[in-house]
Amino acid sequence: MEIKFNGKNLNVNNDYDVIVAGGGPSGITAAVAAAREGAKVLLIEQSGELGGMAVTGLVPAWTPYTDGIRIIYGGLSKRVFLETREKMPFIKKDHYDWVAIDSESLKQVYENLVKEYGVETLFHTIVCDTVMKNEREVDALITANKSGISAYKAKVYVDCTGDADIYAYSGGEFEIGDKGDVQPSTMCFVVTNVDEDIINKEPNLYGGNKDSAIHKIIADGKYNIPDTHLCISKIGPNTYGFNAGHIWNVHSTEPEEVSKGIFEGRDLARRYVEALKEYHPAFKNAYLVQTAPTIGIRESRRIVGDYTFTTDDYFARRSFDDEICRNNYFIDIHKSAKENNEWHEHSDTRFEHYKDGESHGVPYRCLCPKAFDNILVAGRTISTDRITQGSTRIMPCCLCEGEAAGIAAAMAAKESKVNIHNVNTDELRQTLKKYDAYLPDNN
Ligand SMILES: Cc1cc2nc3c(=O)[nH]c(=O)nc-3n(C[C@H](O)[C@H](O)[C@H](O)COP(=O)(O)OP(=O)(O)OC[C@H]3O[C@@H](n4cnc5c(N)ncnc54)[C@H](O)[C@@H]3O)c2cc1C
Repeated sequence: MEIKFNGKNLNVNNDYDVIVAGGGPSGITAAVAAAREGAKVLLIEQSGELGGMAVTGLVPAWTPYTDGIRIIYGGLSKRVFLETREKMPFIKKDHYDWVAIDSESLKQVYENLVKEYGVETLFHTIVCDTVMKNEREVDALITANKSGISAYKAKVYVDCTGDADIYAYSGGEFEIGDKGDVQPSTMCFVVTNVDEDIINKEPNLYGGNKDSAIHKIIADGKYNIPDTHLCISKIGPNTYGFNAGHIWNVHSTEPEEVSKGIFEGRDLARRYVEALKEYHPAFKNAYLVQTAPTIGIRESRRIVGDYTFTTDDYFARRSFDDEICRNNYFIDIHKSAKENNEWHEHSDTRFEHYKDGESHGVPYRCLCPKAFDNILVAGRTISTDRITQGSTRIMPCCLCEGEAAGIAAAMAAKESKVNIHNVNTDELRQTLKKYDAYLPDNN
């Protein structure tokens, strides 16, 4: 079978029930969950590794897995978390909140998962366009890789690109950040040969701690560190993952800005290490092992779904009949370039946090683009308002959304007339519960 694209006839690979684009947390669980339901699945990833921001971006920690009382991100999300933690023996078994991530361990957990469920995976392949069957349905994805331009067809497409690429290439309406003003990005990095005895005795380096060495480093001005954003996680013996520093005005869908940001971020990482060597005794002999293969993007496109999760829903701790997971993370919006400087640079003090035991539901409808019948979207680009994206963007939640999207995609693909809006959400929720999702009946 052939398809016409830009005047060329392309061979079409049309073996698949479900194609998932993007091998980050949402894409991996989407692919695995669809395959577990019996669908023939292809996972397309532009880099050479699975894991998205925590692997290619070296984000070094999970946001809390519990609501203070119990684990609330269940199913595959919980499995990925526990298996990765298991590979890091220095982490205590009763530690569920702000647990560190060793990207190499996480990568292995993800690889084992896709292999276990027979997900065909295509690395170094980018989805770069779509061909439409009609206004509401994608006919094929256009990809680019070392063999050139190709076309892939499935019954259902799950967009887990972190940028809603399939959705945008198909003409879907979207918003980015606050009218285009996005949260800053961060180049994460790994430092080793740190003296653990000393670091444990010294004041916590976290930027929110007034005694952190970062305040002295900034005040002295020598290393041109832009702000106090500094979180570190122990990811191995004498080895720490850094989520530190901000780089502004990087839109992930603007390659020139991303390229500039990557250079800027790597320079900044090197300056952090030099500064800490001078100002913090635990880093005297420290060594920068790695800057991330790519820059960490917090915010990108948001789709327009059948439902848009709002700030009002968040503060009402709202539950929904079609909810596919719960979330309780605080609204975490880092100071963007245009924001009022009176705002604290971390939003953790701006917005009320949930109390122990509280959470809200994430409706299936937020994963369903209003404009299309055979695309589902999971991950940081689902249909929310700008403020609540600052909460739902976290990996535990993205993993849960991906699992739901994968099951729903497999369900839709079985129907003679594919339509993701018609998925029976009671059945979807029953399947999620069968796989250990946290979906309490009284919510
Ligand atoms: C600096 C920073 C710190 C963070 N801190 C935390 C934290 O402490 N804890 C936490 O839980 N979360 C944290 N987050 C948030 C979290 O990491 C992301 O929001 C989450 O990874 C989003 O998951 P995703 O699956 O939507 O996208 P991503 O993780 O971005 O994965 C998308 C994948 O799709 C691939 N891709 C993109 N476009 C295409 C295409 N067109 N074709 C093929 N493949 C494509 C990418 O290569 C990538 O592998 C942080 C994020 C950043 C940037």
